[in-house]
Amino acid sequence: MTGVPGGQTLVVGAGPTGLTAALRLAAAGRPTVLAEAKEYVGGLATTFTFGDQLFDVGPHGLSLRPGEIRDLVSEVLGNRLYTVPLVRRMYRDGTFYEHPFSAPDFWARSGWGERLRASADYLFARGSRFVRAARPERSFEEWAARRYGTYLYDYYIRSYSVKSWGPRLQQLSPLWAEQRLYDPRPAAVLAAFLGRGNKTTEQVQHYCDGGIGTLAGALAERCTHAGAAVRLGTKVEALRRSGSGWEAQFASGEVSGAYDEVIWTGPLEDAARSIVASQPERQRTVDSWLQKLRYRGAIFVYIDLDRPPNLTFTSCYVADPKLPFCRIYEPAWYLRGDERARSRALCLEYHAEEGGESTIPGDDGELAEMSLAALSRVPGYQNVARRGKCLGVIRVDKHYPLLDEPAVSALAELLPYLTSNGVIPAGRAGLFRYVNIDVAMEMGLRAADTVLGVGTFDSVNSLGMERAFREALVRVGPSAS
Ligand SMILES: Cc1cc2nc3c(=O)[nH]c(=O)nc-3n(C[C@H](O)[C@H](O)[C@H](O)COP(=O)(O)OP(=O)(O)OC[C@H]3O[C@@H](n4cnc5c(N)ncnc54)[C@H](O)[C@@H]3O)c2cc1C
Repeated sequence: MTGVPGGQTLVVGAGPTGLTAALRLAAAGRPTVLAEAKEYVGGLATTFTFGDQLFDVGPHGLSLRPGEIRDLVSEVLGNRLYTVPLVRRMYRDGTFYEHPFSAPDFWARSGWGERLRASADYLFARGSRFVRAARPERSFEEWAARRYGTYLYDYYIRSYSVKSWGPRLQQLSPLWAEQRLYDPRPAAVLAAFLGRGNKTTEQVQHYCDGGIGTLAGALAERCTHAGAAVRLGTKVEALRRSGSGWEAQFASGEVSGAYDEVIWTGPLEDAARSIVASQPERQRTVDSWLQKLRYRGAIFVYIDLDRPPNLTFTSCYVADPKLPFCRIYEPAWYLRGDERARSRALCLEYHAEEGGESTIPGDDGELAEMSLAALSRVPGYQNVARRGKCLGVIRVDKHYPLLDEPAVSALAELLPYLTSNGVIPAGRAGLFRYVNIDVAMEMGLRAADTVLGVGTFDSVNSLGMERAFREALVRVGPSAS
């Protein structure tokens, strides 16, 4: 998939992945068009305001491990970049536990009945796992129960996971659990009890003045400066073959091209639909794959607490089945200076299956009322129902993919279909798992390198790809075009 020198590249989507890809391409002298459907850049890594309060779509601290992305972000943000401590909690039955799970913390906060049941189940599960090591786990639930034991799985993991990923945990891939959950290995548990634990390697995150959206804004400026055409309000609806390259049709009806390559950072199925429009003979097959893809959507309820926030954690996962939301956080935690002093806000996060049954009200007013009432049952927020008010609700589609068996088999066919048509999928929605901003940006760089002929297609995907698909990709390989 080496680019023709001087040819033009289309990057679809101006989230962290697309912005980074476009920046690298433009800086290398490659004519680049970055098309973004929305009127603003940043994708999910966007900051918005209600009145004088700053909010991200969910908390958006940067990991920034040493390397190319850290250097790029530091250079682009300069002294607007700073660090914040990372303190996560898991809430259940009036108690805020450490998160990821800490055995000494659980022990310290529990009665003897819970301690004994949790320990016995944990030891049994780990022992059985040892005996049955030859049989790999078949589901998210099995992966978690075989590592935590039934008691801790039910108490600590199950409710949060059902709220986040839906009730069918038996149908989700164990890879999803492996990626999302901490594995409390016996050696680590023992070390933690002996005071030598080191389960959380990242104790700080990075953030920037003005919210995470500042990063996207700064990257977009760089793109423009380097010569890329950044086009907002420009949704790519269809791609049509034009010679050896592509012609893009935007939602406005405008036809643009020709492009030698397309880097697609939006939803994978939109990429497939955009291609298949000009291949009617493949339509039924592609539709049958797309029908098997399922997603969780997210809903964020932003609340004005009418007082300074508690600031006792960066974010708190909610394992309590009596509460409907799955996460709580206070934006002020990330802010500094005046922005922090002004912040009286809190955000509640809900997830629901797209197109599925949901107990979460579709009406924003009802959802706000339910949220305030539920939050007032959490220690530290008792007065919220009386004094707080809802500032707004944001609903986000396709927040996370659901990796059940049908989706896995569909993706294994969909991906080669895209690559063999010369479209490079990269970033959060172009792939199949949760990626953070750092990984998204790195995928952007690798996708651009592929276009510039200094990388291979697989190097894009191996950053964020589930192992099962990576193997399929290696076979498709760089010769896909
Ligand atoms: C609740 C939540 C919390 C998170 N917290 C963190 C965190 O603390 N730290 C962290 O590092 N990461 C976090 N992330 C992950 C982070 O948001 C993503 O890794 C990052 O946004 C991925 O960037 P992206 O460019 O791949 O995708 P996106 O951000 O989704 O951007 C894709 C862009 O493509 C555009 N687009 C889609 N289709 C088209 C089309 N057809 N034509 C034109 N444009 C199109 C979209 O409008 C969008 O702007 C969080 C994510 C969520 C959901």
